[in-house]
Amino acid sequence: MPFKIKDSIAVTETAPSTYTVIFTCSQKLMRLQVDALSQRLFVELQAPRTQEELLERLKDYFSQEDILSCFQSLQEHGIIAEYRPEVVPNRHRRQFAFIQEYIPAFQEALQAHTALTDATVVVFGVGGIGSWIVNGLHQLGIGEIRICDPDVVEETNLNRQLFYSSTDIGEAKVDVLARKLADAKIITYKRFVAPQTMLDDIVLGSDLLINCADSPSTDATTAVLDSLSRKFNIPYLSSGGYNMHLGMVGSLVVPGKSACFDCFVAYQKEHEDIEKQHIIKPLVQPGNLGPIAGVVANLHVMEVFKYFTGIGEVNYNKFAEIDCMDLSVSWRTYTPRVDCERCSSIASKT
Ligand SMILES: [Zn+2]
Repeated sequence: MPFKIKDSIAVTETAPSTYTVIFTCSQKLMRLQVDALSQRLFVELQAPRTQEELLERLKDYFSQEDILSCFQSLQEHGIIAEYRPEVVPNRHRRQFAFIQEYIPAFQEALQAHTALTDATVVVFGVGGIGSWIVNGLHQLGIGEIRICDPDVVEETNLNRQLFYSSTDIGEAKVDVLARKLADAKIITYKRFVAPQTMLDDIVLGSDLLINCADSPSTDATTAVLDSLSRKFNIPYLSSGGYNMHLGMVGSLVVPGKSACFDCFVAYQKEHEDIEKQHIIKPLVQPGNLGPIAGVVANLHVMEVFKYFTGIGEVNYNKFAEIDCMDLSVSWRTYTPRVDCERCSSIASKT
């Protein structure tokens, strides 16, 4: 089995006999004291080499024991990895390199990659947030993407919704997406997210639900997804969306593990002053912007990546509000309520 220094790693000589290893994906720096053997291995392993090849090439200069020990140390530090380019298609090679920086063991990194390619994700609503999310899921290599939206493309969608153009106006959004992402496995459904709509068949056998449907409101559609999530024990991500300049990256709800939707709504009611005020003139239509839709949607895709690969920290029981005008992020954390019928057992453990 050949090994090689990971392509995403750069190495510099910081001082005599001191190398700095720069992990460009994880932004980690590792400073190492390097003897003559280590320096030689840093040269040799820029090309794929088996242990046997290395032992043969270096046998006149270093002992077998020292070579193997140094080799093992480089492997344990996550600097070198098995070189098996045939395992991951070119399309995902750079994504796999990213995963490998966080998960040094080759087989475990491959499992994380496969968790993405084996996954089935359902996206409800393929408008301003959902269309970008579908693209992001496809880029991640999600095995099957089910998309549900009854709407057709309208001219007012074109400032922020990905893939749609003026020639698509009047065509069902789900059909346009499936056509434009021809190499993705996409299954389409044209149904409203509403309590009376049969959605069981769409979510059955899936691994994650994402709510980007906002008609009549995000809260109303999330309530429907929350009910499906509990019925079939499937986690869901509530996209939250964006209003004006503020983008919301929603929390991941795992039935029985994180706070439920009712607890989220209770938190919102407590903290949103506007909810308690008498409305003189209701919101007719929020303004929106393509780049904000793209940013917020792709942060949700990042949550999907973290959830399936186990890399990083997923948003449980919290959501982020991102102000794109100054790039500040505010975190809102809510907890399972003790008086919530569904969450009391979780709340008592926290
Ligand atoms: Zn609850």
